[in-house]
Amino acid sequence: MKPSIDYAEAAREVLAIYAEWETRPLVRNCTGIANCCRFKQTGRTPYLTRGEAYVAARAWKAAGRKSVELSADGSCPFLHPTSGKCRIYEGRPFGCRTHFCAAAGGPAHRHEVRDLIQRLEEIDTRLGGSGAVNLPTAVKEAMAWR
Ligand code: SF4
Repeated sequence: MKPSIDYAEAAREVLAIYAEWETRPLVRNCTGIANCCRFKQTGRTPYLTRGEAYVAARAWKAAGRKSVELSADGSCPFLHPTSGKCRIYEGRPFGCRTHFCAAAGGPAHRHEVRDLIQRLEEIDTRLGGSGAVNLPTAVKEAMAWR
């Protein structure tokens, strides 16, 4: 499907959704221990809509990086191999903010995030997407988007 918005506009909308999430009165306490970033260990991988993938890839490219390399140990490609820090923290996807980490407060309840997910899905559709894609695949594709 032909996109009806450009990626810059989509990124603004996605970042507004992330900002709105931050204002919700839910106790979250991400201390950056990064357990949720080790997909092979957790057996769970975040799925990203197109707008989220673009924001993540843009954050990655902002530091001059040209490609996303898959990690040999099955961790997120954005996880620093020695420090264990997220290297795109400000641009990390919605799932990293809400769903994956017991230590940060456990997954958000569906009703707490449903409207924001719907907005991310609408942006995905307007960008010509057809639904969320697993993080490594999504961001590898998104590195080519301008
Ligand atoms: S994007 Fe960042 S927070 Fe999300 S899984 Fe990857 S390293 Fe972890």
